[in-house]
Amino acid sequence: MGSKETDKMNGVDSGHSAVPLDSDTEARVEEFRRCGHQMVDFIAEYYRDLARHKYPVLPSVEMGYLTKTEPKHAPQQPCSYEDLMREVDTKILPGVTHWQHPRFFGYFPASSSFPAMLGDMLSMAFNTIGFSWAAAPAATELETVVMDWLAAACDLPSVFVSSGSGGGVIQQTASDSMLVVIMAARHRAVAQTGETDTRQFVAYASDQAHSSIIKEAKCAGVQVRSIKTSREHSYALQPTDLIAQMRKDTQDGLIPIFVCGTIGTTSTTAVDPIQSLAESVRCEFAGLPVWLHVDAAYAGTAALVAECRHHFKGLELWDSFNFNPHKMMMISFDFSALYVQERSALIDLFSVGEECLRNKASESGQVIDYRKWQVPLGRRFRALKLWFAFKLMGTEGLQRHVRRSFALAERFERWVAADDRFDMPTPRLFGLVCLRLKGQPNDAQCALLDGVNGCGFFLVSTKVDDQVVIRVAVGSPQCEAQDIDELWRAFQREADKLVGPSK
Ligand SMILES: *Cc1c(COP(=O)(O)O)cnc(C)c1O
Repeated sequence: MGSKETDKMNGVDSGHSAVPLDSDTEARVEEFRRCGHQMVDFIAEYYRDLARHKYPVLPSVEMGYLTKTEPKHAPQQPCSYEDLMREVDTKILPGVTHWQHPRFFGYFPASSSFPAMLGDMLSMAFNTIGFSWAAAPAATELETVVMDWLAAACDLPSVFVSSGSGGGVIQQTASDSMLVVIMAARHRAVAQTGETDTRQFVAYASDQAHSSIIKEAKCAGVQVRSIKTSREHSYALQPTDLIAQMRKDTQDGLIPIFVCGTIGTTSTTAVDPIQSLAESVRCEFAGLPVWLHVDAAYAGTAALVAECRHHFKGLELWDSFNFNPHKMMMISFDFSALYVQERSALIDLFSVGEECLRNKASESGQVIDYRKWQVPLGRRFRALKLWFAFKLMGTEGLQRHVRRSFALAERFERWVAADDRFDMPTPRLFGLVCLRLKGQPNDAQCALLDGVNGCGFFLVSTKVDDQVVIRVAVGSPQCEAQDIDELWRAFQREADKLVGPSK
């Protein structure tokens, strides 16, 4: 579109105009081609601008900046693509927190990549709803294929691949995965114990586990016990503490049904001893239907590289394992990989009849219907993102990104270790460095954090044992050594102001 002829037909003489809804397919396709090319150019420039630090990592807008100023109703008449993109510049970009910025070190990274974006673009174009094989054979089979590839690339135990009784499924988030496995654990426990009052059921995790266990256990109507951890044990869940609490609860007539171990806690990337936890529970509570789940939402991607695999030893003793390739593996949000040893545990729970979904393939029992592996019915063709990433970057490309990110974190860790004003309360594992000013109160740590963030970075803090600790989470593919060195200089400048120069 955009030719003089068509503009005239639309009643506009100059500039670009919107294509009316009743235009023919050919016209709509050509308009999409024109705008789509421009959009790809816009995205390419955006990433180039991020690398050049054109944008501040954090926006400086006031609360309500958009909700208070935008009209209360959607427009009646369409506008042109060009006008809309001008509004993106003036209204949207100023309010964006640039998660892909080279100086974004907050939370955990949500790394993206062009291959994953291209795959996702295609997924949106097909817009299939892959609830069953029959509804979307390519989406279904590619999901099985790439989830098995991912398991092999991470050297996961063979109990989690689709050729046996297990398999992988893509969920939206780690919280969704948690809900799925807690519900499956509860379902299995009801069947095995005959107990229908699920308030008797208890789930266990360390006090460092992600809050999603509390939220999802609440949804499932199951109690949760947080087991205390300590600095002495690097905030890892100790099998003896877990077993003691489980014993006490069984003596009180409660039924332990679920244990969540974490590889890489959100606060400080603490790693629970996966092998000994599972062995202890299996040995002490052999008669109970305890479901063992590992949450490795962030650190699971580290299993791509051989030097990190010791953290995952004993995983074959656990019923399920989950990690988010959308955190550190450059598979753009959303992509949470959930693996189970017994897919029947999910299928038993989530199978319900639906006349209009009946089909020969499902009845043959020869195909996977992923709607029976998740809470919702509909599902996106997310497998394409991972397939594109594997194909266009190779496993080696993904491994390179992980190693590079860890090396950058190590570079920062070395700076910190060499400065006597700082303390690292937990060792660096993976891409997270935790630090604080030695012997200073929490106010000083917060002042340090604010000071550093004021220098064009974005970091967040956490609290361990009531002490404020600053987290530096490295993992943006846009991050360079120079950004790490600048970050360290900002820390030094701010520390100089607060406690004077280093000795
Ligand atoms: C990020 C994180 C989660 C939650 O992730 P969502 O996918 O957003 O639900 C859960 N567990 C751990 C350890 C995490 O780091």
